[in-house]
Amino acid sequence: MKINPNKCVACGNCTYVCPMGAIYVDTVTNRSTINRDECVECYACYNGLSQEHLNPTVVRAMRSVFKMMRLRFDPEPDVCPTAAFEPDELTWPRVVRRAFSDPRVPHESTGVEGRGTEEVKTNDVSGRVKVGEVGFTIEFGRPGVGVRFPEIQKMCWALAKAGVSFEKKNPITSLMTDVSTGTLREDIMGEKLMSAIVEIKVPVERTEEIVRLVWDVEKQVDTVVALGVGTRCDENGEDHVVAPILEKLGYKLERAKTNIGLGRISNAINKAVA
Ligand code: SF4
Ligand code: SF4
Repeated sequence: MKINPNKCVACGNCTYVCPMGAIYVDTVTNRSTINRDECVECYACYNGLSQEHLNPTVVRAMRSVFKMMRLRFDPEPDVCPTAAFEPDELTWPRVVRRAFSDPRVPHESTGVEGRGTEEVKTNDVSGRVKVGEVGFTIEFGRPGVGVRFPEIQKMCWALAKAGVSFEKKNPITSLMTDVSTGTLREDIMGEKLMSAIVEIKVPVERTEEIVRLVWDVEKQVDTVVALGVGTRCDENGEDHVVAPILEKLGYKLERAKTNIGLGRISNAINKAVA
């Protein structure tokens, strides 16, 4: 993303909408500027502000005159008054930033928008996690924090070493050059994302081992990490296998949300169960 300095009138509206804090008003040039290294190409600035097409010279003159009178002339807060944002033509590898950070862009590898994966939330339909298995989602980054690939790499290497199965329909897995070692492409290592999810599964008896592994690696990772654990309920809608393990590890479990698979069942084993 770029801000056209010929159009920007330094009103500062866009600095509040950038979830990464990547936009700042340069007091020397008196224009807003984007820190390219911090920008994750989420397009929140471009799509989140209404674009008006006022004449920049006129707006600057009005702002100067009002300032002299110790008054302010500011546009509405949700507007870029001069349509100064200009999206870049993104090429590889920078385009990866947008794929993981703009929720309206589907991932090439999975066709799914946002972080690019359906996760275990749709397990009733997808059947990713079978009886006797436990699925993990390891989520890196958040608005305001983000994540760089070398941090994700640390976790992938550790998980691969532990012999887990990486979910095939996951965009991080699709960026691996070697799934057996969890090695990600070298040419994306300089890229920053809003957030990303690594998905794995293991036999249920390895639940505690994997939780502890994630706890260990998390300490070496320079971003926030959120761990999700998914398992199949029994015929009464209960889980008496994974829940006790998580409780023993100190998690307090509460039933907050149940996703019911009302879609087309796309795997044979589930079909038999259904
Ligand atoms: S909203 Fe537009 S005019 Fe205002 S500071 Fe940002 S880019 Fe410049
Ligand atoms: S594209 Fe997103 S991260 Fe980049 S400057 Fe705009 S709002 Fe900030």
